[in-house]
Amino acid sequence: MYMLPGFTTYQEIDGAITVRSEIYQSEIEISDPDIKEEFYQVAQKGCDVLNTPMTKVLHEQKLLVDESDIKDCLDEYRSVLDKTFRVTLMPTEGCNFRCPYCYEDHLPTTMTRHLFEQILAYISDQCTRFENVILSWFGGEPTLCADNVIEASSAIRELREKHGFHYQSSMTTNGYLLNEKLFRELYTAGVTRYQITIDGRNHDRTRPHVSGRGTLEVIMKNIASMTRLPKDVDFHVTLRHNILSGDEDYEWYDHLAEVIGADKRFSVFVKPVGDWGGDSVKMLDICPDSEKDGLVQRHVEYLGKIGLQCDNNVKEPFSNVCYANYPNAMIFRADGKIEKCTIALDHPMNKIGYVDPKLGVIIDQDQQKRWGFHGYRETCAKCTQVTSCLNMKCSKNRIIDGIDCSVCDDFIPQTFLR
Ligand code: SF4
Ligand code: SF4
Repeated sequence: MYMLPGFTTYQEIDGAITVRSEIYQSEIEISDPDIKEEFYQVAQKGCDVLNTPMTKVLHEQKLLVDESDIKDCLDEYRSVLDKTFRVTLMPTEGCNFRCPYCYEDHLPTTMTRHLFEQILAYISDQCTRFENVILSWFGGEPTLCADNVIEASSAIRELREKHGFHYQSSMTTNGYLLNEKLFRELYTAGVTRYQITIDGRNHDRTRPHVSGRGTLEVIMKNIASMTRLPKDVDFHVTLRHNILSGDEDYEWYDHLAEVIGADKRFSVFVKPVGDWGGDSVKMLDICPDSEKDGLVQRHVEYLGKIGLQCDNNVKEPFSNVCYANYPNAMIFRADGKIEKCTIALDHPMNKIGYVDPKLGVIIDQDQQKRWGFHGYRETCAKCTQVTSCLNMKCSKNRIIDGIDCSVCDDFIPQTFLR
């Protein structure tokens, strides 16, 4: 049976149907009324044989495929992940903020110089074997160890010059210390993508400094200084907005729009606060599940209305594949543990290795594989999200929480549009 897989999209505009493969970038246009009718029949019901010119062309362009082709196409697409080395470094687990919803312990553990050098030597050695290298900085608060960030990022950037791999470096930071001087230094070292959380008018309550002071004013000053950088300074900042129950303060977005204007180097990502662990989150008014989707949708609509870019619902290739599920991904903790998932820190199933003071990096390859790809669900073949997801969204659900993954709540089928 031949069918239109989830990675083939189609749309009819002004009497012509454009059929496109999200994987192969192939595209055809159909405007003849009879062929359009035939296309819609095939899109809806599939076909057993390729016995018409239209089905043959669709098949040649890999827009119409059989079940085993779908698996081959997706496997080929997924092979990009095999060629990617994805490392997250937590140079410190201490933080200068005390956010009540944070699940981390804030123990002031910081990498020793010896440990940092061992890790950098390992990364430098590994990254020359891959086509893509992604280096992410996480914490604790990584800007507290800016010197380490600059040293390691610069070293990998230099290796890129020599070996030609594709390199991207990003940082999840609270943004408090990210003034223009530090931003420029990090940019020169190759750190070009950031996630900074700003919780709107709740911010000083949900993201206080360790001293108890508010932090919004300083962060917004830092953001404003980034907007003044010349347009050829090519970076991206995702401003994450954690929202609480009933949080519909859209005036905040008007203010944000005044600061960042039409600068497409910034986007907003809206996320309801969840019980991510710890006791202090219980004092916050967390959204009940029944409220979450509608609330986020209203935020997304408002952002669209005022022209701010929004990352919710973005379906770029691999964008929903969690870093933990990449086959060559690892997180280096500040104490030398090597783990996969940044949420399940210290869980025994999360640990895939450690840095031995004498022997260096030791990885348990079996444990590493446990976090990787585990096949497709039946629905994946027809799901329009398959290129962004590949059934690799969250292995913690399967490995640590023991959730039965046979049914997917996020499945979005192609809609039969005429
Ligand atoms: S896991 Fe769910 S969302 Fe992902 S491709 Fe499969 S059906 Fe779609
Ligand atoms: S909880 Fe799931 S999605 Fe989040 S980091 Fe862990 S594995 Fe990834």
